[in-house]
Amino acid sequence: MTNRTVLVLLDPATEVRTSVLELLTIARSLGRAEAVTLEAPTVEVLAQLGAYGIETVHQAELPAAVRGDERHLPAVVAAALAAAVRRTDADVVLVPTSFAAKEAAALAAHALGAGLVIDAAGVHDEDGRIVGTKRVFAGSWDTACAVTTDVAVLTVRSNAVVPQPVETAVSTEVEGFTAEVPELPVTLVSRTVKPRTSGRPSLEEAAVVVAGGRGTHGDFGPVEDLADALGAAVGASRDAVFEGWFDTYIGQTGVTVAPRVYIGAGISGAPHHRGGMQAAQVIVAVNSDPEAPIFEISDFAVVGDLADVLPQAAEVIRAHKA
Ligand SMILES: Cc1cc2nc3c(=O)[nH]c(=O)nc-3n(C[C@H](O)[C@H](O)[C@H](O)COP(=O)(O)OP(=O)(O)OC[C@H]3O[C@@H](n4cnc5c(N)ncnc54)[C@H](O)[C@@H]3O)c2cc1C
Repeated sequence: MTNRTVLVLLDPATEVRTSVLELLTIARSLGRAEAVTLEAPTVEVLAQLGAYGIETVHQAELPAAVRGDERHLPAVVAAALAAAVRRTDADVVLVPTSFAAKEAAALAAHALGAGLVIDAAGVHDEDGRIVGTKRVFAGSWDTACAVTTDVAVLTVRSNAVVPQPVETAVSTEVEGFTAEVPELPVTLVSRTVKPRTSGRPSLEEAAVVVAGGRGTHGDFGPVEDLADALGAAVGASRDAVFEGWFDTYIGQTGVTVAPRVYIGAGISGAPHHRGGMQAAQVIVAVNSDPEAPIFEISDFAVVGDLADVLPQAAEVIRAHKA
């Protein structure tokens, strides 16, 4: 264990998502882990942080010019992160991967003159340097980027590690600090947080994803049923979304996922789709065409009609769980 200080961003501070618990677990493996927030954490959040060994949460006090939801703007989050690093003399900042968080991480790294790794799939210490690993170019290369500056800022994909609480929970203190925010070049007109409409995990963070493509011929029932048997999120190919069969697609121009298991059913595996799922740890493909390109990157290939295969898989999984 080094005497490094590692800051983890909590945004929002009203819930600690699994992706943040993963970051706290990584942070502890790198040094002394602390959290940064832009709003008051709830009692439940403090208890969760305590269970993950976090003794200190730094809560940014923002200038009055930052009103309401403007605290979520990347420029504001970045200013708070940079101020927190200066105050704590932190060495590493870990941020979950979302579009807004990536922008905040980049702005904070710029302000701090820090090395930045975006979308790391793993973070470790190598000879005293922070190294972020990731898979790139449609899964053809695994890269490891060592940060050579004093401060390292990394956004880390979901499912990088299994969250591990500490054996004995600690009590967590909130410490306020002043964060100067430069004049904002935008005014927030409105912000709507999309409610989760189903009991399923979010696509970006799910450990297991089941995705359907044009091979579903418009019936996503078997895809959704298998996802529910597995407690998985549901996604689609862009063509399936453009057909109006589902609402969210995975891929280079859609949502990027990096689950432990990705199951693609009736998806050919076009490069645009691969770009959003090739970082999955295990890829399972169900396709009636034995020559389908997705089989080239699959760990498990099932040649068959998804309307037969998926219900059988769901049945076996339910029986196994019972
Ligand atoms: C600029 C641009 C950006 C794009 N971005 C994205 C993106 O981000 N994400 C994305 O997904 N796509 C994207 N696309 C589209 C992409 O190029 C492909 O057209 C798309 O991914 C194909 O979707 P699909 O695999 O569902 O359909 P298809 O390629 O038509 O494949 C359907 C598959 O289903 C199989 N099948 C058929 N019937 C069955 C059955 N009963 N059981 C099992 N298998 C069956 C077939 O053998 C076939 O392999 C983009 C395209 C462009 C031009």
